[in-house]
This record gives sequence, structure tokens and C-alpha cells, in this order.
Amino acid sequence: KGSKTIETINPCNGESLKTYPYQTDSEINDKLKLADTIFADWKTKSINERTELLDSLYNNLSHSKEKLSELITLEMGKPITESKAEIDKCLLLIQFYKKNAEQFLADVLIETEAHESYISYDPLGCILAVMPWNYPFWQVFRFAIPTLTAGNVALLKHASNVTGCALAIEELFLDSGFPKGAFQTLLTNHDTIEKIIGNTIVKAVTLTGSEKAGKSIAATAGKHLKKTLLELGGNNACIILKDADLDKYLDTIVKARMQNSGQSCIAAKRFLVEETIYDEFLEKFTEKIKALNYNNPLDDKTNMSCLARPDLAETLEQQVSKSIDKGAKVHYGNTRDKAYYQPTILTNISEDMDVFKEETFGPLAPIMKVKNLDEAIKLASKSSFGLGTMIFTEDYKTASKKVLDIEDGAYFINELVKSDPRLPFGGTKASGYGRELSKEGILEFVNKKTVFIN
Ligand code: NAP
Repeated sequence: KGSKTIETINPCNGESLKTYPYQTDSEINDKLKLADTIFADWKTKSINERTELLDSLYNNLSHSKEKLSELITLEMGKPITESKAEIDKCLLLIQFYKKNAEQFLADVLIETEAHESYISYDPLGCILAVMPWNYPFWQVFRFAIPTLTAGNVALLKHASNVTGCALAIEELFLDSGFPKGAFQTLLTNHDTIEKIIGNTIVKAVTLTGSEKAGKSIAATAGKHLKKTLLELGGNNACIILKDADLDKYLDTIVKARMQNSGQSCIAAKRFLVEETIYDEFLEKFTEKIKALNYNNPLDDKTNMSCLARPDLAETLEQQVSKSIDKGAKVHYGNTRDKAYYQPTILTNISEDMDVFKEETFGPLAPIMKVKNLDEAIKLASKSSFGLGTMIFTEDYKTASKKVLDIEDGAYFINELVKSDPRLPFGGTKASGYGRELSKEGILEFVNKKTVFIN
């Protein structure tokens, strides 16, 4: 606040990467006007004309994969192999909408007494996206590809620590032949966002970020009666039942918590383990955690890294320390050096602890013993968040009978909760509302217009 520049900093060594000036009010106004002008033309293009550009976007992104992966790693610290996997996932997403957008957006005829009646999926206009740093390409692409394909134009306010990524994404769209103004990056702070949401050119807002940011943006958008889509935090339970196949799924369970150095909204954040398998699970899980290669993120062999900012590691340390005050036991780890937080396992967890109630955004596994499936399901839902629940058991039939008891946006049996372009993604309760990806996602920012011809 008060600063006129954004400085990006490599979180793993504290070195300054680059400084960017904030755009002025008049520059931002020009961008809004350009978005509006371009929309008038972009909306008249056929879906084929729009998806054709996805081919060049795909090619440009895959050609720049090495360079862009390095940028992600430098700005927010994730291991380079995970940055590359993030770019690959964006490529999959582009292919998915290239193949399916026309079918998803086709008019739907509905028989009535009219000569003809149907639903026309028309674009809304300029959509503002406020995005987080943890998957700096994926989060933006998962919004932008379906939204632009549906005929809207996009404005991005990215997390300030990944400003280089934000500008690289804008350049990718331009270089791929999207009209100048179809996708624009804004370099601005929170205060200006309120004004931008209030501008009549902006028709809707999507946010991926924290609960706090969600409440603030939804309140502003509500004041101006604009639609919002919110993808917020999570506190997913990972249930391990006595018949879980640990040999087969242990790596998946470790990944569920530790991928992206623990900084994922859909990560397993509370482990609920049936008492008869508890000791075996704890021992095997700990071995795997100890074996994680915790090193320079630009090294291909590294699978654990620093967090995206030192204050994030500090917050995690405080959540752990307050939980220890309430009786949690450190089974492994719990040291911090600036943005580095050692992968940590806590046991003796109770419901009143921060590590149970709050979202923990880092490599921390709180492990709780439960009596049986019913107790696990009850505890899983004892959260203000509702992104997803995962369960590991060989009896998938019994587990699948619990679908209705899960209040979250996702329920995964013998798999970690993950996003997939083919499936809808989103949460309930404090995790937000609305869906991204799949057909559901592309239909979030359209006017589902009824056409009635008598
Ligand atoms: P954050 O602090 O909420 O920031 C997210 C974005 O919102 C950033 O661009 C930030 O800008 C902006 N922002 C924050 N407060 C704002 C306000 N009052 N008004 C306008 N803009 C505001 O979240 P984060 O720390 O970057 O990301 C981690 C959070 O995102 C976690 O809670 C995680 O679970 C959640 N997340 C959810 C999903 C999902 O799909 N559900 C996916 C990924 C992450 P600045 O950078 O300028 O502060």
C-alpha cells in the first residue's frame, strides 16, 4: 500500500527479480475502454474463429515451456518439475476446449408451443479475474480459455509476487493472434480493484484466492450487482481406512499434501486415519516425508521447496505453535528458515486446534486417529470449508454410499482431489461458489438467453 511499484522477489534466496511500475488510473481506464471496443467485435466471431487461435496459443505455450517454467519457479519457488507439469496441464486444457467448446456453446432447442424456442449462450462482456500465485499459469488459463472462447474479453489482476507471469501470459495471447485488448493484465493494487469492479464495462468478477479476499470482492461486486465466481481456500480431509492399500496409494497420499510444497487449495490438510491402521500408516508416511528431496527448486531432482513468501512460512509456524500449546505433538519436522518450512507431521490433534480448523498453506500433515468410517465422515465435514474430501479404502462400494454425506464440491475415492479439464471444479461453504472447467465452467460467464419465435 502506498507504493508505486511492485517488486518481485525470489522467495528461496530473497533476491530481487524485477520492479514494475503500477499502471496509472488513466492507463487502466484506457485498458477498460479497449476491452469494451474489442468485445463488440470479438463477440461476433464464430466459435471456430475463436478456437482456431487456441492452436497457435498451444504452440507458443509449448515452445516457451522451459522459459516460462523457470519464471514460475523463480517468482514463487515451486520445484521446476512442478512448474513444467503446470504448463503441460494448461496445454491439456487448451486442447480440451478446442475440441469441445463448439458443442458446449451450441444453441439448445427446447420444444414449446412456439415455432422455435431455444437457449442461446451469449457472452457477457468484460470479465475481471483476480488470481493467486500458487499456480500462476494454471489458475489464469483455467479461467481465460473457456471465458475467451465463449466470446468474452478478460482483464487479469494477478497476485503481485507473480507479476512476471502475469505479463508473460498477456504476451502469449497477443503473440498467438488474439486481438489486442482481448486479454489484458492490470498492474494495480486492491484499492483500484474496487473502482474497476464498479466500472460499467466490467460485467462479472472471478476470484481464486483466500476467504478474506473472497468476502471483500463479493461485497464490492454485490454492491454493483455483478456476478461473482469464487474459488477460495480449502481444508480437505484425507480419510485412510483400515483396508486402504498403502503399498499402492502411499505416494498418492504424500502428493496429496506435499505437492507445490503444500500450497494447494485442494491439498489434503487433515488426515483422518482408522485406529487399526494408524501406527502402520504413520510409520510409512513418515518414511516417505523424510525422503523428500528438499533443495534448490531449479534442480530437476528437487520435489520440495521454499514457500512463496517468508510470511507464509511464518503464518504456518504460528498455526503449528498455537496447536502445540493445545496439545499437538511434533512427530517430525517443524523447523523454519526464512521461507523454508520443513515438511512436518503433527499428531495428537483435536478439533479446537488451528491446524484442524484453519487452512494450513504449506507442508504440514496433522494426523488424527478415528474409530471408523462414520466418525471420519463426520469429522471431514466439521470444517467451514468445502472443497473436497478424499478417502482410501479397498471397499469403494461402501465409501461411495457416503456421497450424500460429503458437503464438499468433490469426493475422490482412492485418488487425491485434483482438477481435470473434463470435470467441474469448485467448492461449497467458505470455499466459494460456482464451477470452473468442463461444460459447467464455460457456461459460468454467459448470458443463457431464451429465444422464443412464435
Ligand atoms: P489472496 O491473498 O487472497 O490473494 C489472491 C488474489 O487476490 C491476489 O491477486 C491478491 O492481490 C488479491 N487480493 C487479496 N485481497 C484482496 C482484496 N481485498 N481486494 C482485491 N483483491 C485482493 O490469496 P493467495 O495468498 O494469493 O492465495 C492462496 C489462497 O488461494 C489460499 O486460501 C488458497 O486455498 C486459495 N486458492 C484457491 C483455489 C481454488 O481453486 N479454490 C486455488 C488456488 C488457491 P495481491 O497479490 O496484490 O495481494
